[in-house]
This record gives sequence, C-alpha cells and structure tokens, in this order.
Amino acid sequence: MSDDVLSAIPTAPHWQPEQAPERAASIVEELAPGLPNGIDVEIDITWHDALTVVDCGQNLQKIGCPQCGASIDTDWWADQLEAHYDDGFATLAVVVPCCGAATSLDALVYDWSCGFARFEIAVWNPERAWFSDEELTAIADALGHPVMQIRAHI
Ligand SMILES: [Zn+2]
Repeated sequence: MSDDVLSAIPTAPHWQPEQAPERAASIVEELAPGLPNGIDVEIDITWHDALTVVDCGQNLQKIGCPQCGASIDTDWWADQLEAHYDDGFATLAVVVPCCGAATSLDALVYDWSCGFARFEIAVWNPERAWFSDEELTAIADALGHPVMQIRAHI
C-alpha cells in the first residue's frame, strides 16, 4: 500500500503562519474535494517545532548542484539529512561534493521538488494533479506567504 501526498509549504523554510490558517486549509479542501463517491481526502496541517525536510519520496529522480549543474549523489544527500536530523537542521548550509561550492540544502535543484519547512499543509491521496499557479496563489494569499508544492510517493 502506497500513498501520494500533495503538500503546500512556505517558500521560506523557517516561516510559520502567525494566525490559524483555517482559510488556507479550507481553500485546500475546496481544491481537493476527494472522490465523487463522497470519500473526503485527508488533509493534515502541521506546525513543525524544528525545521523538517518535506521530500518527494520515491518521486525523487535526481538532485542537481545550483553552482556547477552536476548531479549530486542522493546517498550523499541522505547522509546530510541524517546528520542534521538530530539538531533539527540548525543550519541548511552545506559544501557540495561536486565543485566544493558552499550552498544550502534548500537551494539544491531537486527533481521532483523537495523542500524544508516548519509548516505544512498535506493532502493525502489527493485524487488530483499538481496545484496550478492560480491555486498556489490562492493558498499563498490565504496563508500570507508564497508557497511551493511537493508531491510525494511514499
Ligand atoms: Zn557543483
């Protein structure tokens, strides 16, 4: 049994909404109404105490270096995540193995996209495709911050 999860997270990793984001949640609810047979999709809204990786699971095809464009070993990336897991990503700064550039984990070029967040709206098995630009704008307006989307297969 596998799941698809469509998430909206703030584009700034540390940003959290100050107010209860019910409006954003209800917009997402409208955008993912579930199946015609009336089964609602499950929508989780999470405030993470520490910065958390929001990855795309099995949808991750490759990771690129933002500096030189080389492809970055996903095992190296997994090691970085593991190393930072205990400190809650006190820093996202990394030195990439390809060209030695100092960059940031959230600046790597993920295909499919991955992000880091302290706030997340996750739609489980959304029964729909990606959010459109207009839909992302609607969620961002309701939340008060631009958002990006992650689509995970887990
Ligand atoms: Zn590089």
